[in-house]
Amino acid sequence: MGGEVGVESVVGTGSVFWIELVATTSPSAAFEGLPASAAVEAAVPGARVRTLLYVEDNPANLTLVQELLGRRPDIRLMCAREGTLGIQMARSSAPEVILMDINLPGLSGLEALKILRNDPLTAHIPIVALSANAMERDIRKGIEAGFFRYLTKPIKVAEFMETLNVALGFAEQEARTKAHRGA
Ligand code: MN
Repeated sequence: MGGEVGVESVVGTGSVFWIELVATTSPSAAFEGLPASAAVEAAVPGARVRTLLYVEDNPANLTLVQELLGRRPDIRLMCAREGTLGIQMARSSAPEVILMDINLPGLSGLEALKILRNDPLTAHIPIVALSANAMERDIRKGIEAGFFRYLTKPIKVAEFMETLNVALGFAEQEARTKAHRGA
C-alpha cells in the first residue's frame, strides 16, 4: 500500500497530523484467485514436499520420528506397522525414501528390503535401515543386502536428519537422471 504520513507542529499552538492514502483494491481482493496451497509453498521457498515411508512396529520410535519430522514441512510422513503393508504402501504411494525397521512382526525388514529391491516399481527407492540390531555383522549384512544406510537405535537426531537429507538428495538425483533419459 502506498501513501504518506506526516506531522506539522507549531510551538504553543499544537500539531497537525496528516495521512495520505493511495486508493487501491483491498488486500483480500488481491489474494483472491490464488490457490490455497500458495501460502504453504511460500513457507518453504523452492522446496517441494517429499514422502517418507516409515515401516516400524514400535510406537515410541514412530512417535519420535513423527516429532522430528514435525519440523520438516517439506516431508510428508507415512507409516506402516508391518512389512507386508509397508510393501503395499511403497508400491501405491511411491515414496522418495523408505525408513525400515528390521525386527518386524511377520515379514522382517530384510525380507521386505529384498522384495522392494526386486520390484521395478520400488527398486530405485533408497531404503534406510533403522534397527536395534547394532552388531558389526548385523550392519554389514544389512548393507550387503542393499540398504542405502544402516542406522542403529536409539535414534541419534543429528545422524538421522543428515542421513535423511543424503537419501532425499540421492532420490532427487535418481529422478533427474531418469527424467533426462526420458524413462
Ligand atoms: Mn521392531
